[in-house]
Amino acid sequence: MVIPASSDGKIKIIEVTKIFDTPQGSVEALHEVSLNIGEDKIICLVGPSGCGKSTLLNLIAGFILPTSGRVLVNGKAIRGPGADRAVVFQQDSTFPWLSVARNLEYGPRARGVPETERKTILENLLKLVGLAEYRDLYPRQLSGGMKKRVDLARAYANQPEILLMDEPFGALDVLTKEKMQLELLRIWRQDSRTILFVTHDIEEALFVGHRIAVMTPRPARIAELVEVPFEKEIDLRIKTTPEFQSHREMIMEVLYKSENNGGDEA
Ligand code: ADP
Ligand code: MG
Repeated sequence: MVIPASSDGKIKIIEVTKIFDTPQGSVEALHEVSLNIGEDKIICLVGPSGCGKSTLLNLIAGFILPTSGRVLVNGKAIRGPGADRAVVFQQDSTFPWLSVARNLEYGPRARGVPETERKTILENLLKLVGLAEYRDLYPRQLSGGMKKRVDLARAYANQPEILLMDEPFGALDVLTKEKMQLELLRIWRQDSRTILFVTHDIEEALFVGHRIAVMTPRPARIAELVEVPFEKEIDLRIKTTPEFQSHREMIMEVLYKSENNGGDEA
């Protein structure tokens, strides 16, 4: 397979295969997946449940290593987790015994950032995610959306180059989810990072992503790379336009087709 030489290679995934060995036998989660992710862009991964989306994200996070192939960040092979990458999961990762402010300070404190600098970081984070009024509250006093803002701010706290988001809004109700999609774009516009955003919600992918990698059933390959032509505007009404809906249908079709072709074919 030819990997196009391009400048959009903040993250390069080159012919990556991942096989898990389990007592029941080996499971091939990814089959020779190649993908380039450009700097300061939001790329979404969509695909059927169990196809290998989290596996790909975990490889970039450095939680697991590929069976074959290479995962590069800034041209360097990933050997493990690092402060240049932050992960946001579906489940909240806030510490329930710490206030919002303490939660946000946790990372910088653990890194040994001096107090005055920590204060500046904290104020910037609170402003970035709109939590200034909630700084003294505890996670149990926050709504699901607010807790997600804390998660996002915590991910930004160490100034990572890359944010890896695994179905971050998957547990939220529809309205809160849409609010958080807007929030993510607002935050990204203010402080752009390279974001890999995993979701099984096609509309969400079209709304937040610059590009969408549509994956096949397991073992996952990239069935199609879709360029999203919509501006990353802060307006949910885009979702009701015919162009948006036709993109949605096109992606649905790719998913259906790859499902019917069977995931095991080369
Ligand atoms: P997705 O995120 O797309 O739902 P995953 O990447 O979590 O899918 O999983 C892909 C496949 O790999 C699934 O069949 C899953 O059971 C398997 N898998 C994932 N992680 C492990 C692991 N640590 N050990 C064994 N099998 C795993
Ligand atoms: Mg998953």
